[in-house]
Amino acid sequence: MINNPYGPALKKISQNIAIFESSEEVDGFLKEAVSLFMAQVGAILGAIYIYDDTARELVFRVGYDKGDFWDSFRCGGKGAPSRFSLDGNEVGEAFTRGAVRYLNYDLPEYPFKSKILIPIFRGPEKIGVFLMAHQEKKAFCPIDQAGLLQAVSQLGDMLTEALVLINHEQVDGEIVNFSVPQVLTGMKTSEGLAEGTALPVWTDMDSAAEVLPPPGSIEDESALFEQALSTSLRQLEEIQGSQAFGDAEMVALIFTAQMYMLKDSSFIEKMRTLIKAGEPAFEAVRRVVGDYADRFSRMSEVRLVEKAQDVRDLGFRMITNMGPSGENGFSYEGKIVLSRHIYPSDLYRLAVEKVSGLVLQGAGVTAHISILARSLNLPVLISDDKSFLSIPEGTPLLLDAGMGHLYVHPDYKIRKAAADRQKLLEKNRTFYTLKGRTADNVAVRVTANINILKDAREAVRQGAEGIGLYRSEFPFILKNDFLSEEQQFRIYRSIVVSQPGKPVVLRTADIGGDKLLQGRSEAESNPFLGVRGIRFSLAHREMFRDQLKAMLRAGAGADLGIMLPMVSDVEEILQAKEEIALCLDQLHKRGVLHNSSPRIGAMVELPSAAMSVGELVAETDFLSIGTNDLIMYLLAVDRTNENLSHLYRSHHPAVLRVLATIAEEAGDKRDALSVCGDVASDPLLCTFFVGLGIRNLSVSPAKVEPVKEQLSRFTLGEMERISKDMLSIRRQKDMEKYMEEFERKYS
Ligand code: PEP
Ligand code: MG
Repeated sequence: MINNPYGPALKKISQNIAIFESSEEVDGFLKEAVSLFMAQVGAILGAIYIYDDTARELVFRVGYDKGDFWDSFRCGGKGAPSRFSLDGNEVGEAFTRGAVRYLNYDLPEYPFKSKILIPIFRGPEKIGVFLMAHQEKKAFCPIDQAGLLQAVSQLGDMLTEALVLINHEQVDGEIVNFSVPQVLTGMKTSEGLAEGTALPVWTDMDSAAEVLPPPGSIEDESALFEQALSTSLRQLEEIQGSQAFGDAEMVALIFTAQMYMLKDSSFIEKMRTLIKAGEPAFEAVRRVVGDYADRFSRMSEVRLVEKAQDVRDLGFRMITNMGPSGENGFSYEGKIVLSRHIYPSDLYRLAVEKVSGLVLQGAGVTAHISILARSLNLPVLISDDKSFLSIPEGTPLLLDAGMGHLYVHPDYKIRKAAADRQKLLEKNRTFYTLKGRTADNVAVRVTANINILKDAREAVRQGAEGIGLYRSEFPFILKNDFLSEEQQFRIYRSIVVSQPGKPVVLRTADIGGDKLLQGRSEAESNPFLGVRGIRFSLAHREMFRDQLKAMLRAGAGADLGIMLPMVSDVEEILQAKEEIALCLDQLHKRGVLHNSSPRIGAMVELPSAAMSVGELVAETDFLSIGTNDLIMYLLAVDRTNENLSHLYRSHHPAVLRVLATIAEEAGDKRDALSVCGDVASDPLLCTFFVGLGIRNLSVSPAKVEPVKEQLSRFTLGEMERISKDMLSIRRQKDMEKYMEEFERKYS
């Protein structure tokens, strides 16, 4: 020991060795040892991993971090300690090889430039790994390697007696490899890149309570409660005041209920009473909230069941605000929420609160969740791999929703590659023209599909020539109920005025299918074939009239189109027109400002509508092909079923033939025909549609410019050729070849 440069450290360590009486003391000893070694070599971070031979993993035991380079989770603070498997990572490899490893890095964002990994021996047996890191390059090179190995092994020997206390059973963390990142895959729903830390099942009050300090006196707990209450109130007021996405109406729809609850004196008084009786503050919140949530869950009015989620979310907010971040208030910023299930209103709420991204379990994710996530620019991944639900809170994640990947503990390389790809995508958006045109100057109007006000603004920014489809069911879905005429009017009006001088098509609510309104929609064994779209509206006449009146009023002075969804028959159009006439009459009698001559249109999204275009054009001012549903009903493939996505083929020869028939049947009214399904922005199919004679495409705001750019690359003649060629293909296999060829030539 005398000749060993680490002798003094070892001597000091050995003086402490005999006094362990508990596992904590072993940890204290090890921490001391780690810090002494670190001081000796000047390291900024050190950690000991002990081998668990049952799990065949290296388990984090103690660590010292001088610069907060590792978060408290990784260093064994709150939550589960990290583990390393034996292969595929530096720590495991140092252990398996039984040799000291020096590692030097040259990664700009990685905090360490060098690392040293020293296997810990006890006699001939390897028992763990000691890791130290430094900010400087080659910091460990001048170290006496043999001396260090010897010293660390002596440390191992000293642990012999204490080892019995190193009990892996008490450690129940997940396998976490931050040297070798893990990746989970899923279906992309809403593109985008999000970096943040994991927040599993965000409304779990128990997990929020776990990190709280031990309860104090009744006075302390009362003060803590009042502070959490006022922080929560302030947060909700700020959210309301922020009018997120410029949509005060929608924010009010979603947050008002929580605000009312916080101001409800009986709700709050119950908590205060429990605290006065000696309950810790978090327990009082948990009990009262749990009680209310249970009551809501048991309500027969299904619509109220969703309120259970609202109240739990509030409880989570209050308890979290009692924790370390209490002063500033808990924030969703920088969090990636991992959840089994989500309501549309939660999605909106999390977006307003600036959550970075979401990972959801496959089942239960409906089309409107995906559509809404896209509108909110929120990266969302849907995965059937349930393991993401057990990722511990605080784990660093990178969500690359565009690629369908969730990286757990992403390393620098992964983060850089994803960021570069994102930059490229953004850079590519440089094509700006005022109007859609073919290369030989034939006008093709490119309008936008929108779901919320934010989209309408984005549509203007992206150069859309108006709104081709506003999905008016969204406010209903977000509120999970009907809205009054007045509420609807305010929402629709804000959309209309966002498009000065441009046409706006408001679609009446397409409720039903997977866009259910709990408590208003009947339970059906096959809702996609049930009371959906215009059927729902005709079955709920008062609601339909409120909506029509709101639309007519909102469209005053504007180029307004009212479009009917899920029309299967001309009779439905006639009935709807009668309702519109009635509403016009009522508005006239009320003397309210409104649009007295809206254009009336219908969606062509059912096979029966596709085969009766001749009749439909006679009774409408315009028609719009809803390929999302049309393809689903033609191919009998549920558009929301991830497992069938390979069968949902928009280029299916039969689909293309039906689309050509629609265009054909529209005859000289083809000018008033548009496509508003997602495939209108497909690089090949947009040319196919123009080749068929269609001159209106409605696409999501982000796709407006790419579609205009694509159309500008082809003459009308070339697009007609593409349509002809595609229509002559009879087999799917040949279609795929054609598509590949097209992509090779034009991408
Ligand atoms: C469609 O079906 O193509 C469509 C645009 O309507 P939605 O996606 O709202 O059903
Ligand atoms: Mg549809």
